[in-house]
Amino acid sequence: MNPLVYLDAGHGPAKPKAYAPGVDEQAVAWILCEMLRDAMSREPVVVIPTRASYFDTPTLAQRVNDANRAEADLFVSVHLNAARGKVRNRIEVIHHPSRGGQIAGQAMTAALEAGHPKIGVKRIVSPSPDYPPALYVLKRTRMPAVLIECGYIHQDAGAALFRSPDYPDMLIRGMRDGIFRALQALGVIKKTGG
Ligand SMILES: [Zn+2]
Repeated sequence: MNPLVYLDAGHGPAKPKAYAPGVDEQAVAWILCEMLRDAMSREPVVVIPTRASYFDTPTLAQRVNDANRAEADLFVSVHLNAARGKVRNRIEVIHHPSRGGQIAGQAMTAALEAGHPKIGVKRIVSPSPDYPPALYVLKRTRMPAVLIECGYIHQDAGAALFRSPDYPDMLIRGMRDGIFRALQALGVIKKTGG
């Protein structure tokens, strides 16, 4: 049986979150997830979106329950970040301190770093003293899960990244490789030569 990955485009039109002129978090997250699904459509991995359509905004509990019921092998949640004031723009890979969370988080971080992104990649364990919020989709999923913040869009430079043609492609390649690396490291799929 092929590995099963739940792909979660964060939020939805009914509950938008981070926003910058021309860059709306949930819309960009939806587009990135559709691109990623497309990029993986010929691979021996089943990718199920948590949002059935663009206008579908399930609760976090519904997203997690679906993945738990399906006994997914991996849960990947895609977000864009915003904060008050200036922060160093970067990608953040957030995972639970559980063993599976560590493995998946390290694999995803390594893959995004290998993609030579224009911005750095920081791995964050949550909950931890450094990052106390226990993120629902990380805490309540029964399978290893990662949440990827693909950049800070409240800054002009961050929003501009998403308007450049190569940044989304770089993200897709990195997340696609990250899913494979995570599934291999978790022993869900066998390591292949090369
Ligand atoms: Zn978000």
